Amino acid sequence: MMVKVLRLIGKDAGNAPGLVLWTLNKDCLKAFKVECPIIAVTGTNGKTSVTNYLNHIFTSGDKKDLKIITNKQGNNLDTGICSLLLGECDFHGRVKADYLVLETDESHVPVIYSKLKLETLVVLNFFRDQLDRNGEVETLILKVKKFLETYEGNLVLNADDPNVARLGLANPNNKNVHYFSVERYSGATDQPYEVGEGKYCPFCNSKLEYEYYQYSHIGKFRCPNCDFGSARPEVVIKDVDLQAPSFVIDGEKYKPSHNSIYYIYNLGAVYTASKLYNISKDVLHDTFEHFEVNNGRLEVFEVAGSKLLVNLAKNPVGANMTLRVMNEHPGEKELLFVLNDNLADGHDVSWIWDINFSVFKDVTRVVTSGSRAYDIAIRIKCSGYDPDKIVVKPDLDRAMESFFSTVGDKFAIANYTAIQPTRAAIRRYKEGTEDAND
Ligand SMILES: [Zn+2]
Repeated sequence: MMVKVLRLIGKDAGNAPGLVLWTLNKDCLKAFKVECPIIAVTGTNGKTSVTNYLNHIFTSGDKKDLKIITNKQGNNLDTGICSLLLGECDFHGRVKADYLVLETDESHVPVIYSKLKLETLVVLNFFRDQLDRNGEVETLILKVKKFLETYEGNLVLNADDPNVARLGLANPNNKNVHYFSVERYSGATDQPYEVGEGKYCPFCNSKLEYEYYQYSHIGKFRCPNCDFGSARPEVVIKDVDLQAPSFVIDGEKYKPSHNSIYYIYNLGAVYTASKLYNISKDVLHDTFEHFEVNNGRLEVFEVAGSKLLVNLAKNPVGANMTLRVMNEHPGEKELLFVLNDNLADGHDVSWIWDINFSVFKDVTRVVTSGSRAYDIAIRIKCSGYDPDKIVVKPDLDRAMESFFSTVGDKFAIANYTAIQPTRAAIRRYKEGTEDAND
């Protein structure tokens, strides 16, 4: 691979490896010649899912022979995309594919797409996420906005997130802005349900007025003082029924395989992007109803007679979504919360104070684990939850023993570096009990 890099930048392989590193880190993307359309997906939550959906759609039906290059595993920084392309290009740096579908970190959108020509950008949402790395969310939005001021490609935007909808006005000359929206669903509220950002108009600073909140700051908003919030979405998801689950777009009923509002928004983005590429209804039905993204989000396990739903949460919104799914699930249940504070998590775990634990409904017990098991236990206790029902087990295997000592409906939330160890510990526990029963 190193030889390939050096050929690309016109040096012979005798040069210092430091140059390779420098190239990889700085300007590597310029060395590639990409002639096919590039579709990028960005936003705080859901970009891995949406990228995987689009990749699936672009390789289904009459498009099944197309070559798509995608970063399925969420290698979404410029260096990650650089090494992805490096593995796919020829010695002249030519990348041969029909489409590139790239999950892209919000802060890296301007860096990457000032060097590679972007055809479609999908923006899902902006929430606070890993503050230590990205800085404040406003800085991030402004970075993307600056890039969009001269961008004239397709822009797919969530009309219900003011942080995203504002980007549609970044370049008044761009005629390719496509908004999607989800009509009020049964779990929407008149007042905000969780702590969120984006409550003031970015154009005139007036307080935004909401007709309803779907979750966090996502909902039907309008500025009372200027036009912001009046854009007409071209895709509107209607009749959302989470029990079925089902929804209607463009008069067609779809039966998705998951039932959270958060997921329905992701499908709204997928649908809107697909429309730009004339994807057939059959492919959309098949994808929405059967395709599973295998990335540890909303994964279901059957363990020792209990049904367990595991979800990754890197920020309060992700955690609140799982709590919402849990609360909307009828009957008693238990929660496992695994919190680590490794480098990739950001050492600052203060975001857990923005999780809305006070909405617990029929939660009979909570087990906490991970390197910050005590922090999360204290957080939950401070929300008014009975401390006698909280069990703290920093060691994951001990946590599983405790968690599965009862049988029933269970939910687990783990943050970034905790998710894989949590899944592994669940499997170990499951295998251990199954072996014992043989
Ligand atoms: Zn305004």
